[in-house]
Amino acid sequence: MRKVYFVLSVDTEEEWDWDGPFPNKVISVENVDHLPAFQGQLNDLGLKTSYFLDYAVMENPHARDLLADLYQSNPGIEYGSHLHPWVTPPIVPVKSEADSHIVNLPIDIVGEQLKSLTSTITELTGRQPTSFRSGRWGINDDILRALADQGYLVDSSIYPFYENDWFSCADYDSWPLAMSYLQTTPELIELPVTAGFNHRPFTRAQRLHKTLEQPAWARFHVIGVLWALMLHRKIYLSPELSTSRDMIALCKEMLQAECPVIHMYLHSSSLLPGSTRYVQSQRDKNRLMKRIESVVDFLRSQCEVEPLAITEAALRLREEGALKDHG
Ligand SMILES: [Zn+2]
Repeated sequence: MRKVYFVLSVDTEEEWDWDGPFPNKVISVENVDHLPAFQGQLNDLGLKTSYFLDYAVMENPHARDLLADLYQSNPGIEYGSHLHPWVTPPIVPVKSEADSHIVNLPIDIVGEQLKSLTSTITELTGRQPTSFRSGRWGINDDILRALADQGYLVDSSIYPFYENDWFSCADYDSWPLAMSYLQTTPELIELPVTAGFNHRPFTRAQRLHKTLEQPAWARFHVIGVLWALMLHRKIYLSPELSTSRDMIALCKEMLQAECPVIHMYLHSSSLLPGSTRYVQSQRDKNRLMKRIESVVDFLRSQCEVEPLAITEAALRLREEGALKDHG
């Protein structure tokens, strides 16, 4: 039976209205209280979780104690770093949306913020964090170099098939692609979240998607029509964004493409109903858990699933020669 690694990563951060301003004054991290119960449910499913912690949760004494306990009592989990520049010292005022993306900030500032974040996590666990995800995605060579310099081994800041005004991951397929293309010493491994379409090849599906986004097509809502007909769907492997059915369709494509790793993600704030647009009620939260479970059940029906924390998954993939060499 073929084997697939399963990585579940959780951006662990303050609650905020993603459509509103960036919270650097009133910061609530109440959602962290829900992590032990959440981890308990994941343990029941036999999963290993990688939590990317941001400075806001590390700075709150109560959340910090709780995270220390969680780490002690769950030996399989990993704590990586999640950089929200608007809450991490040295704090830069966020004047526009552009400033919320670390790819737009001076590298000296980003490097300093990364140091603050890294040292607080190292103090908590007694171990250097080795995995990283930027807040709101996006990465560049300078930041990758800073990560490598500061002891990181794995980056997960690329959001496949996504682009905005400041960075583009539009041509980044989550498989097969150079996960180790990053030109840093020591070499960093890129382990993006699983994303794609309900039909392959993804590169062709992405070209179609981009064409349909052009104004001439957008007028006719073709993407919406094809979505309703289930002919063309762009799918992210997150129980916040996608139904079980869509995520399973994506997993099927990934398994058919012989991708050796499936990487699901979510945000800790979704565990506190009402704090994200995805989870407004306890019912939504139950649905979120159900979605995680159905994807895992599906994968287990198809192959041998080995849940791993992100750094271990990345190192194993490299060891097994599953990463494409960079040219
Ligand atoms: Zn975040």
